[in-house]
Amino acid sequence: MPEFPEMEAWRRQLDDPVSAFPVVKAGPAHIATLKTYDPPLSALEGRRFSGAERRAKRLLFPTDDGELVVLVHLMTAGRLKYLQAGQSGPKTPAFRLEFQGGSQLVLTEAGAKKRAGVWLLSPEQVEAELEHLGPEAYGIGSERLAEICADESRRLHSLLRDQRVLAGIGRAWANEILHRAQLSPYALTKELGDDEVARLAEAIDAELERGLELRERGANDQRTYRVHRKLAEPCYVCATPIAQVDFEEHTIFYCPTCQTGGRILKDRRLSKLLR
Ligand SMILES: [Zn+2]
Repeated sequence: MPEFPEMEAWRRQLDDPVSAFPVVKAGPAHIATLKTYDPPLSALEGRRFSGAERRAKRLLFPTDDGELVVLVHLMTAGRLKYLQAGQSGPKTPAFRLEFQGGSQLVLTEAGAKKRAGVWLLSPEQVEAELEHLGPEAYGIGSERLAEICADESRRLHSLLRDQRVLAGIGRAWANEILHRAQLSPYALTKELGDDEVARLAEAIDAELERGLELRERGANDQRTYRVHRKLAEPCYVCATPIAQVDFEEHTIFYCPTCQTGGRILKDRRLSKLLR
């Protein structure tokens, strides 16, 4: 699933083009993709967006009259594409907006299952929709992070991925961040020292910035990640082979030398814990 670096790179890319011209045709949309029906999509026609915004892993396109907002959640396989006038695109996108002059914004989704969603909402409804989200992870700072860690006893990898606590990080960047911070994915939040919290806050910003820079240049997963999905490849710091462990419903990647003092972590699958 795209996380902060991927979503923010798309936001920056879309900010200018989506606000250049008013929408002339909204839709069609796949029935599973469009999550709202009132107001109808046609309410967008004749309106112009003020730009592209982002909250956590969602993109928001507010109209410049302040009345409507298109909210997009791409989930795992959704992709947004801006097509110049005359540029050919997918025949049946999951969602399409056409702008004056012929350019288009299209949402496609690989695979048969449609999980990505588009909502057409009022600004008040957007607020309610996003209310459950925690503060943005990027720029959180060590003081605020220390408060969050003191609040509840959690394993670090799980805390970083919880959008209600910190917004914008998923399993891929949690792996990268914990590696950079030299912290075990299983470390307990309440047991972290001040220096460890400071290291974690620094690693959050440094890794998300590194990811954003790479994604803005169009880097693929292979080039962007250094730990995530790098099983058995040498750690970029110490050359120890990267290890993996199953935790809850996720597979975590980590360096046993840099992060766990040489210890190999044991699987903690959700199914096992429930038994
Ligand atoms: Zn290492």
